[in-house]
Amino acid sequence: MDKGLIEQVRCCNSTYRMQFPVRADDGSIVVVEAFRAEHSHHRLPTKGGIRFSPDVTVDETIALASLMTYKCALVGVPFGGAKGGVCIDPRTVSEGFRERVTRRYTAELIRKNFIGPDIDVPAPDYGTGEREMGWIADTYKNLKVNSADTYACVTGKPLSMHGIPGRRQATGLGVYYGIRACMEREEDMQPLGLTTGVAGKRVIVQGLGNVGYYAAWFLQNEGKAIITGIIEREGGIFNADGLDVEAVFNHRKANGTILQYPGAESVANGMELMERECDILVPAALENQITGENAGRIGAKIIAEAANGPVDFEGEAILSQRGVLMIPDMYLNAGGVTVSYFEWLKNRAGVSFDRMISRHEELVKRELLEAIENLTGTKIPTEQRPRLIQGPSEEELVIAALEQSMTKAYNNVHRLWKERNLPDLRTAGFLLALERVAESYKNHGIFP
Ligand code: NAD
Repeated sequence: MDKGLIEQVRCCNSTYRMQFPVRADDGSIVVVEAFRAEHSHHRLPTKGGIRFSPDVTVDETIALASLMTYKCALVGVPFGGAKGGVCIDPRTVSEGFRERVTRRYTAELIRKNFIGPDIDVPAPDYGTGEREMGWIADTYKNLKVNSADTYACVTGKPLSMHGIPGRRQATGLGVYYGIRACMEREEDMQPLGLTTGVAGKRVIVQGLGNVGYYAAWFLQNEGKAIITGIIEREGGIFNADGLDVEAVFNHRKANGTILQYPGAESVANGMELMERECDILVPAALENQITGENAGRIGAKIIAEAANGPVDFEGEAILSQRGVLMIPDMYLNAGGVTVSYFEWLKNRAGVSFDRMISRHEELVKRELLEAIENLTGTKIPTEQRPRLIQGPSEEELVIAALEQSMTKAYNNVHRLWKERNLPDLRTAGFLLALERVAESYKNHGIFP
């Protein structure tokens, strides 16, 4: 590729660093620092989550925005990459303060043309969720009153504000689909000393937030994996016979901690549990959790990167040398942006996906059942009829499309890995994404 083209793909197209005043609960004024980075305008809108954390920096925001560009390209979502960061600690500030910050941040983005259905569309990330996305949508709607598709300015919204069913669990469910796709191939499992399939595999998960909870839940309930360890800020719990993810979640909700979960060993230092022997380790909390310091002691055979950037460069080199298989973040947590894309499409069209097809499908299936009954002379049992006849719900359509998207993307990355004899899945993922972005830049956006 042309050197300039590679430089264009690499660089961050626009970054907005802002500082704005927000009224604190005691009436004083607090200056909040925040960022939004649009890494690549080769496709519009750009898309990426907003992170609330006291540790966010402009460099981190740019890095995460670039990851979004490659992620979208990899799973065929026609967006450029973006990311936002707000330097507050959502755990220590009041809900009122969080709302004032979110609304002011949105107003700043509008002022500088850094948000809009055709421009840049935020979503949830670490420290934010449906509630924050709802505040963003509401602020945007009130300041941009003359547009029919204002709700397409942000995704991950509550259902009552034109969100989409399935978005809440999309990233974690996508993680499960990705792990499942990876573990289907005997040629890759055999060198690890593993049989194919997720069922019966021992899994340790770090982070029981949006991504970690749903990834663990689907691994356990759909994949029939055994969740042996769960790690949170306060420490970890371990049970070789398996933990019930939902019960652990409820225990944390009731007690404010996962520790002392009945029947499990409690470990005060969660990082210690990251090193325990298991088949799959799912870091689903933060970046840089596996580094040159601890990579040599990691006891997992597969690392499924549900979080963004959980393994650093030194850590990755050591893990590769030790033969650990890494399923890269860029692919594995792309389920969130995939379903965000569906939400954006729905908001733009102003109609839910099932509305136009559900009844028609039902009628066609009814005719089909009748034809089968007439041909075979056998009556389909009455209790089975409703399930066989009913048209798909919007959630079913979304989940089916997510599954197909994750499986197809894995097949593409895997094929490239093997065909071009690349060192690992991450290199293959980057290559595929870079080629797609560069190809698109070749044809658009460079003025003569
Ligand atoms: P979240 O805020 O819902 O959950 C994060 C969880 O990690 C929290 O429960 C938190 O208590 C826990 N945690 C924090 N520090 C920890 C530590 N040191 N040890 C163990 N647990 C710790 O955030 P999320 O949306 O689940 O995001 C998690 C990761 O997934 C981030 O890297 C994010 O960028 C990535 N991601 C999220 C989405 C999404 O749709 N939410 C999509 C793609 C990628």
